[in-house]
Amino acid sequence: MLKRASPVFASSLSELTAEIPLIHIDAEGRTIDMLLQYIYPDCRPEVGSDFDAFLAVLQLAVVYQVGHVMQILRKMLVTPEMLTQFPIRIYAAATRWRFTAEAEIAAEATGRLDLARASEKEVGNISATDLVKLMGRHVRRKSDILEALKGWKSSLCKTCQSMPGDSWSMRYYVRAVDEVKKHPATDVIFSEEFINQETGKSNCPECDNYFVLSQRLKDLKQAAAHSMRRQSPSYSRKSVQSTVSTIAPITPIPSTPQLENIFSEGDCILRSIDSQDIRVYRRILIEASMFWKHLFSLPQSQPDVDPADPESAVPIVDCTERGRTLKLLLQLIYPVPKPKFRTFAQIEPVLEAAHKFEMDAALQHLAGILREAHFIQLDPVRVYALACRYDLPELARLSSSFTLRSDLEQTAEESVFGLSAISFLRLLQFRDTRAAQITAILTERAPPSPCEQCKIAWASNWLRLALEEVCRRPVSDTIFGLSFVTKSFDVEQVRRSFDRIGYHQCNNIFNIADHDWLQELKKKIDMLPESLDP
Ligand SMILES: [Zn+2]
Ligand SMILES: [Zn+2]
Repeated sequence: MLKRASPVFASSLSELTAEIPLIHIDAEGRTIDMLLQYIYPDCRPEVGSDFDAFLAVLQLAVVYQVGHVMQILRKMLVTPEMLTQFPIRIYAAATRWRFTAEAEIAAEATGRLDLARASEKEVGNISATDLVKLMGRHVRRKSDILEALKGWKSSLCKTCQSMPGDSWSMRYYVRAVDEVKKHPATDVIFSEEFINQETGKSNCPECDNYFVLSQRLKDLKQAAAHSMRRQSPSYSRKSVQSTVSTIAPITPIPSTPQLENIFSEGDCILRSIDSQDIRVYRRILIEASMFWKHLFSLPQSQPDVDPADPESAVPIVDCTERGRTLKLLLQLIYPVPKPKFRTFAQIEPVLEAAHKFEMDAALQHLAGILREAHFIQLDPVRVYALACRYDLPELARLSSSFTLRSDLEQTAEESVFGLSAISFLRLLQFRDTRAAQITAILTERAPPSPCEQCKIAWASNWLRLALEEVCRRPVSDTIFGLSFVTKSFDVEQVRRSFDRIGYHQCNNIFNIADHDWLQELKKKIDMLPESLDP
């Protein structure tokens, strides 16, 4: 039965010769039991609401290539009940196993969620990369559906286009745009319930004609679905930039002749994955790390020492790092000038190695480099992800405050490499909490009153712009900056008011009371906690 069901079982069973063959499977007993129930005919076990158990069985079916069970479970993965409960996790699972169609369906089902507000239960243990991918998809999907809706609007008669209230078609357009802006998916706007709303009100004989309408709805569905299948996602500016920076040729790190020589002497050889032999002094490694201290305290086996050749007695340690990486790491613990790092691509492998070899001093030095502006300001999310990964709480705290200054909706996938979705969600929630706190402070008191004559107030312009800005970047630096404040003085608006009510001594100016008002707001905002405890 097993041989029939899976090529993996078939090959491992044919290798076994014992009377009762024994196969070791890396899974819990109940998962294996469940898989067997699916393999046996006429057995349909109830997975119920235990989503983790369901995924475990599917995982096993994928690993053992149990084709027909995989088919059954893939169908179950995208049933409406599953999709309403766990769309994000289904998307992540389907992406991992390259179930393209299922991933697409699940991604569409996430459209009804505000991803920044997803709960821990909804994201489970998925990676931040999957969450960021979904966020990017939501942005693209929204603009695509809105584009399709524009097509709908442009096919209406001129009268309807300018009078939103007079036809069902135009009212549908307004309602649908509203809905899609909140939730970038089509399930709601194409639902019977949504379509049947407002049918009783006034209609346009031309646009709301039944036959014209049903054709136009069909076109809209097609246009909206077409964009879903489009394979070339439009990349955000930031992700293009970051991609370029990672594939750009690595600028060589200047090395002095002295550095070339230091790794030709020593009582031990580190052999890199790219076959470079790096000579080091064990003493230095032992002082720098518990890992090496432990390694060199183990009894050394030296079977083929040639007494005539002292060189053959030098122990060799095979490493999985590249020679370049090892040399940079060693420079950090040797009494030589420290290397300079300019890009994430340069520093990341060294950080990984320092963490693996438990070289605390080197790790702290690298953490210090990541605090420099061209790392932490350029990509604070990436620094945050590294800090979480290598257990650097101080750096995590500092970088979390810098993430408030970057637009998290634009996060590139490589910035969150290795970060869990839950950690990334905490950043999003931190941003939203601060945005809410700042909004409360800004709207607590009414802004200074407008000019008596023209009723224009730069302060209300400023407040409107500031509230928009703090939703994305909830910090005080930008909104109180000179250029931001001057932006709220709309010269055109004042000029038009002169045309309207005539020239007057306009009181829409920046006076000392306004200055105090802004100062007070800034002081309150700056008192809010600005970093997240990892
Ligand atoms: Zn019309
Ligand atoms: Zn005025």
